[in-house]
Parts: sequence; structure tokens; C-alpha cells
Amino acid sequence: MTNRRTTKQINVGNDRTGIVAIGGDAPVSVQSMTAGYTHDINACVTEINRLAAAGADLVRLAVPERKDTAALTEILNQTTVPIVADVHFHFKRALESIDAGVHKIRLNPGNISDRDQVNSVIDACKDAKIPIRIGVNEGSIVERKDKQLRMKELGKFFAQHKQGHLIALMIAKLEEYLDIFKERDFDEICISAKSIDPALVIDIYTEISKRFDYPLHLGVTHAGPKETGTIRSVVALGTLLSNGIGDTIRISYASDPVLEVEDALEMLYCLGLKERCGAELIACPTCGRIQVDLFTLVQEVRKTLADNIVLPIKVAVMGCVVNGPGEAEGSDVAVFAGDRRGIIYVQGERVANVPEGEILDRLLKECLTLQERIKSGDAKLGEKKVNIIPPDPIGELGSGIEKIASGKVEKLTIGQS
Ligand code: SF4
Repeated sequence: MTNRRTTKQINVGNDRTGIVAIGGDAPVSVQSMTAGYTHDINACVTEINRLAAAGADLVRLAVPERKDTAALTEILNQTTVPIVADVHFHFKRALESIDAGVHKIRLNPGNISDRDQVNSVIDACKDAKIPIRIGVNEGSIVERKDKQLRMKELGKFFAQHKQGHLIALMIAKLEEYLDIFKERDFDEICISAKSIDPALVIDIYTEISKRFDYPLHLGVTHAGPKETGTIRSVVALGTLLSNGIGDTIRISYASDPVLEVEDALEMLYCLGLKERCGAELIACPTCGRIQVDLFTLVQEVRKTLADNIVLPIKVAVMGCVVNGPGEAEGSDVAVFAGDRRGIIYVQGERVANVPEGEILDRLLKECLTLQERIKSGDAKLGEKKVNIIPPDPIGELGSGIEKIASGKVEKLTIGQS
């Protein structure tokens, strides 16, 4: 991982919500957006609180109509995470949102036709001391008459690059927008330049990061359903983040936005950009050796751990004792299944051999006990490395499967320190 790019820093929130810093030396933050109507106050509050509980640092909501901004005061009263008002076309919705006390505005100056109206929003944000995200989306770019000239000005890269013309246009549009903010002496800015094309997202943000030192909000817009949106988002955002580019991220799915937050967090954990909260689950993909319903078990374990474990305990759910132990190396708690049973190890120590139907409860019990021991200082995360001598498939332990039931499986060497 390369060092993160240095940017200016903006702050979002207040004493009540806590301040989320974006850019500078702040950790990469995660945001999402409500999917329901903002004017449906109860549903909106519920959605915001679900997103905050899932780990969202900021939550954005749409305010297309006056009834939406009219709901903001009550929504802000009932939530404790910084709120961003997403404004398109109607500058008055931005002014009303600022009056209501939102903590940040997302604005696309290109879809507010009157410069005075844009200026009034900038001035109101300045007075309220709240930042603005300037969003330029691929879809909102229109052809410029001076396209050829601008591409020449912007350099060789754009002439050679497959989508150079589009990148040039997006950067030119961003420069136009930023000039408006410079004229108003407004610097509390975050930038986004989203596209539906992950390769374009990588290229446009890479170019932007060389040209501007404002914090960057990363996202692939309209990434689609979670099934494909995950890949599109992780390819683009993971590449940029691993190159040190990006200060706040939003993964967007045509699905429950809580999934966006969960996946964004997992990506940051994987890249070492955020300390893990909650258990880390490892599970085998299963193969012809499997003798339990591992897919169901893994989903149940995932949900149970998410609901109960707050420390980054590494938990492995493996389908057999043949390769499972080796694949679970380093886990704090592991279950190796077979013959409709599971043997459970905690930091190298074999603690149980239970029927399939009891695996989930016993695994949770062991995780909770370990969590308490870690909290009280009696144990440490990753204290013992699981150190396995895999069974010899043609030797004493055979396939290992029948040995679980017979109790001979403890001949496996696990957790030698
Ligand atoms: S742990 Fe066992 S069942 Fe799971 S994939 Fe590996 S060999 Fe197959």
C-alpha cells in the first residue's frame, strides 16, 4: 500500500453528532444514502439509524421537494450521525437544508442554471460553516465547444487514453465549478467525479488527484445490484485506495444501503485502512469432502457474530479436518466439520466435539467467552497461532472424516506454541 495522498481537510458534523474529518490525515470515512423518502420522517430516521449502526460515518439524503426539507429539523433531532443534503436543480432546497441544520451539502453547480443561485448556496454554507461536496458525474457532462483546445491544454494523456476526451471534459467541468467557489473565497470543499465505468473512475480520480488537493469522495455511480455492484465498486475504489487516493467512499447498490456500508467497511479492513470492528469470518468454499450443510452454517455464523461480537476475533468455519486446519491458520476460534459434527478450537485448544445442530450455539458461546477474557485481560487476540500438522489422507487419520466421530481427531496437532 502506498502512502495516502495529502489533501486539505474538511470537517462534517457538530458536538452532537461528533465531527467526521475528511481528507488530511483523517481515516477514510464511509458514507451511504437513504433509499426512502426524506419526508417520511419515521422511515427516514429508522433508515439513518440502521446505517449509522452498521458503521456509516455520514448519511446522505435526497431533498427534492419542500416537504423533504421541512422534515429535516425533526430528522436531525432524532439522529446522531452527520447528515448530508443531496441537492439537484433547486437551490432553495439547499438553503432550506442549511437553515434546518444539515452538516454538509452535495451540490452539482451544473444543474443550477443561475450563477447567483449557486452563489447564494455557497454563501449560506460559508455562514453556517458547513462544507460542500462538488459532484461532477459522467452523465451530467455536456459537450464543450472548445473540446479540442481543452484536450490539448490538458496534455498528451488525454489524446492517447481510450476515454481521454471524457476525462478531459470532466476535469474541465470541475475546474469551472471550482472557479465559482474560488470567486466566493470558499474552500471547504470535497470533490467527486463518478462514472458507471470502473476503469473510467480509476482514471478520472487518478488525474484529479494530481491536479487538486481537495479531499476526494470516491464512488462508482449506479453500480447496479449488489451481486455485480460489489465487483465494480471494489475494482475501482480498491484500486484507488490502494494507490493512496480517496478520503471518503460510498458504495452504491440497487439494494438495501446497509449492504453498501458493510461492504465498504470490509474493503477498508482488507486494505488496512480501518481497524476492524467485530469478528472476521473465514470460511471454506466446500468441496467433495463436505459432510455438513456448511453454506447455511456460515450464513448463520456470520449473522450471529455480527450481532454479538465487537472485537476483531478471527473465526474460521471449515468443512473438514483434511485441509481446514491449514486454511484456518491464525484463527482465534475455529470449527472443523465432518460426519455431521464439528470440533471446535479456541486459540489452539480443542474445546468441543458437537453434533452439527449444536455447532452454531457452541461456537457463539466460545466466541463470547473469549471476548470476555480478552476484555478482562486474560487473553489476547491472535495469542496462539493455530499450528497444524494436517492429517495424512492415507495414513493413520485417513480422510479425517470418520475420525471426528470416533474421537481420534484430537491426534491433530493444533495450537502448539
Ligand atoms: S476445508 Fe475441507 S471441505 Fe472445505 S474446501 Fe477445504 S478440503 Fe474441502
